[in-house]
Order: sequence, then C-alpha cells, then structure tokens
Amino acid sequence: MEDAHGHRIAYLRVSITDRCNERCQYCMPEELQEWLPRQDILSYEEILRVLRVGAGLGIRKIRITGGEPLTRRDVLGFFRAVNAIEGIEDIGVSTNGTLLATEPESSGITMAQHLVDAGVRTANVSLDTLDAESYRQTTGRDYFNRVLQGLDAAKAAGFESIKLNMVLMRNSNEDQLVPMIRFAQDRGLLLRFIELMPVSTRDVLRDDRFLATGSTKKLIESEFGPLTPRPDYKTNGPASYYEIPTMDGQLIGFIGAMTNLHFCESCNKLRLTCDGKLRPCLGSYLEFNMKEVLRQPDVTDDEIAASFQHVVDRKPKEHDFRNDYLPNRKMIAIGG
Ligand code: SAM
Ligand code: SF4
Repeated sequence: MEDAHGHRIAYLRVSITDRCNERCQYCMPEELQEWLPRQDILSYEEILRVLRVGAGLGIRKIRITGGEPLTRRDVLGFFRAVNAIEGIEDIGVSTNGTLLATEPESSGITMAQHLVDAGVRTANVSLDTLDAESYRQTTGRDYFNRVLQGLDAAKAAGFESIKLNMVLMRNSNEDQLVPMIRFAQDRGLLLRFIELMPVSTRDVLRDDRFLATGSTKKLIESEFGPLTPRPDYKTNGPASYYEIPTMDGQLIGFIGAMTNLHFCESCNKLRLTCDGKLRPCLGSYLEFNMKEVLRQPDVTDDEIAASFQHVVDRKPKEHDFRNDYLPNRKMIAIGG
C-alpha cells in the first residue's frame, strides 16, 4: 500500500486496551478515567483478522500498545497468534514496564521472557525519571522499583532492542536528562526524548510544561559537549538520533512531533485503536470505523482490505498538532 505522498505503508500500531495500571499526568490523569464498555473493544480474533488482511497488503511490522497492553487477559496467547501470521516480520511492544518482571500464572518465567519466546523482538519502555518520588507524582503510582526490575527482566530475556522513552516536561524532569543518559549507557538501552503532545487534555500542553527537543539538546550539550547528528541511524519511527562523542558515542534520540517540521516525512504507519478505528495519523481527526465493517455478517477479507486502502488513500501529509488540534479522544484509546 502506498499513500498519496509516496509512503509505503508497512507498519501498524495496535492498541489492544484503553486500560492501564498507571495514571500518567500527560496521558490518563486520575480525573479523566472512564473505560470504554467491553463490547466496544475489539476481540483478539477481530484484531487478528485485521492483522492477517493487513499482512496480505504489505504490513510487516506490528507494535502492540495501549493503555498498558500487558494488563489485557491472555495477552501472551495473542502475541503468539500475531507471530504466526504470515508476512509479519517484526513484532514490538510498548509498555510502562511495570509487569515485565512478573511471572504470569506462577510459571517461574518472567513476562519479558514469555514475550521474547512468543516472538516479540523489541520493547519500548516508558520511564521519565530515576527519582522514585517524581515517578510517583508523574504516574500516580509507586511502581518505580517494578520498572527497574522490569528492565532487568527485559535485558535478561534477550529482546533484540530495548528503548527507553522519556517524555520531556519543563519544570519537572529536566534534572533527569543527565542521569537518564548515564543510566541508559550503563544498561545498554537506547534512550529517546519525546516532546509532550496534545493527546490527552488541552492543559497537558501548557507553556510552563512544554520542553522542546531543541532546548533539551542545549541542556544535554551543556553537560556533555556538542552532539553529533546521525542522520544515517534509523529505527522504524520518526526519531532523529545524535551521538555523544564524550560518552563513547552513546546514541540518543529525539521525537519532536511539535517542533520538528520534517517529523512526518517518512511516516509509514497506521494505527488501529482498541475500539476498532483505523487511523492514518495520531495527530489528525481522520479515522475509519473498521469495527463496523468487521462486525457485519459475512464480511469478506476483500472488504476489510478495501477499508485499509480507503484509510491509506486519506493519509494526511502531516499531523495537525501545530494547528490547534484538540484530540476528540484520549491517547490511551488511540494507542501511543
Ligand atoms: N502504557 C504504555 C507506555 O506507557 O509505554 C504504552 C502506551 S503509552 C500511551 C505510549 C507512549 O505514549 C509512552 O511512551 C508515553 O510516555 C507516551 N505518551 C502518553 N501521553 C503522551 C503525551 N501527552 N505526549 C507525549 N507522549 C505521550
Ligand atoms: Fe498508562 Fe502508558 Fe498512559 Fe502512562 S503513558 S497512563 S503507563 S498508557
């Protein structure tokens, strides 16, 4: 599938739940909590059907997200089924890391190891701070140590890559930039800094909260000296990578959806929300009700394929975040 701007669409990000065991201020603060009714959430069978049709149309990479995907029942069975789909070459998971060290069903095997055994190659773990108290304030939960254990479990399980995602918040975690870089280097993790996006409530993006990637680079350079751009280094997303020469070339990434004007240029991604909407872009109102199609009696794979093509044909050139975009739903339901 190719969109009108010449992007070959090969990546589908799939939210399997809007539920989460944390309450991050910028995503799902306590006061916003309201779950979708269960019957509105796609069943695993429904998601797998969409993925099979997608794979037939050229989807090669799947990232499972949420909400917190590892809270959904029988998630491991689901990952195994995704891994069995012909054409899917790369499966990743985005997680807050709190459950990676747990041992599902008292199996004596960590969730992280089960995921690797189920064919998951990469884990993106969110961590905004190394200070337990500020972790609690940001996420609404006292789970900092669980995440550390989760990262150890992930390392031991042998994921091909583990990325750390840190959301940048002015007056909150600037003091964590240097400790996080050292932590990532010590543990062999690829750290990325993410600009706050207007994907929850409007006041998430208050000026006193927003920290641009440009200011972040300056703060990092004031500690470590000039960064060297690495335009040749690419992962499967919109991050720009830099090397820190004074730290043995340690790589760090910047995901600057708000300030990087080239952010959307290489976007090859679609999103499936947990309630069955296929979206061509995180920062756009456009979405297509795939659930309605899926739940029609006797719907054929060709009809599902036509829905994919319909969405790809409407993929915008770039997101609307800089045009006063206000999401009509929370990121947790879209799948970050
Ligand atoms: N629960 C998992 C986690 O926290 O990684 C997966 C879902 S979460 C919505 C995916 C990513 O979106 C996380 O890295 C999170 O930090 C990021 N995120 C959530 N709200 C955001 C916002 N308002 N701006 C920027 N990133 C955000
Ligand atoms: Fe949950 Fe992830 Fe959102 Fe935090 S960012 S509330 S962990 S879904």
